[in-house]
Amino acid sequence: MTQVALKCEGVTVSYGALRAVNDVSHDFQEGRVYGLIGPNGAGKTTLLNVLAGRQMRHRGRVFCGGQEISQRPAYERARMGIGRSFQIIKIFGEMTVAENLLIAAQSRRPGFQPFWISRSFDKQFREQLDATLELTGLAAHRDDIAGTLPYGLQRSLELGVTLIPDPKILLLDEPLAGIGHHEIQAALELIQKVSQGRTVLLIEHNMDAVMSLSHEIVVMSNGSVIACGSPEAIRKNESVRSIYLGED
Ligand code: ATP
Repeated sequence: MTQVALKCEGVTVSYGALRAVNDVSHDFQEGRVYGLIGPNGAGKTTLLNVLAGRQMRHRGRVFCGGQEISQRPAYERARMGIGRSFQIIKIFGEMTVAENLLIAAQSRRPGFQPFWISRSFDKQFREQLDATLELTGLAAHRDDIAGTLPYGLQRSLELGVTLIPDPKILLLDEPLAGIGHHEIQAALELIQKVSQGRTVLLIEHNMDAVMSLSHEIVVMSNGSVIACGSPEAIRKNESVRSIYLGED
């Protein structure tokens, strides 16, 4: 029987009079990919931030593997296996690709000592680093300064930084944003590969991509979930078509 990996219950976030997220409840099952779609300002990023602990909810509860984590800070959730990537790439532009990955790997281990202090990497770090460089297609760029990489490779590094601690749950915020047309297929294949065996919440405006990657689509509008179901069912849903897909 599949288990619930992540769950939100009545989550509400307000900014003054604006309900950015309004009473959202959903179970995210282990090993499934959930596409989170909706118009700009629907509350998708805010919901992801609440799940990752980067934004405190005003009401409601969040659970990971059955354990309530509503009050847990982001770094604890990261150590529990929740990884979060960002729409706006967050890497250290003046450090090398390998350094970015090692910082991400170390900072999510309890009681870590930064490698520039310990001046050594253990075998596990080396293996994690090599595997992540290979997976993300960055092996040939390990010593390149991250900020000098072409945009598509910076996106791959952003994903690598999220992946290197081997999270069970991946929260991906528009991982295809800004990627050139000719790089989309490779990026899709990478997301598909890293989704295997993980629970993934994927915010993406590229409809073909999100529909092909997801087992289930969750549609938000004005802070609320207005529909959820298989990609086929959502494509046929009349209210989703008119509110989001822009069809009559
Ligand atoms: P997009 O697809 O454009 O990224 P979204 O669905 O991710 O949009 P959010 O970024 O979650 O939407 O924003 C939801 C609402 O909350 C929007 O109306 C936004 O302007 C508002 N909002 C988000 N962050 C803040 C903030 N820090 N202060 C005030 N309002 C905010």
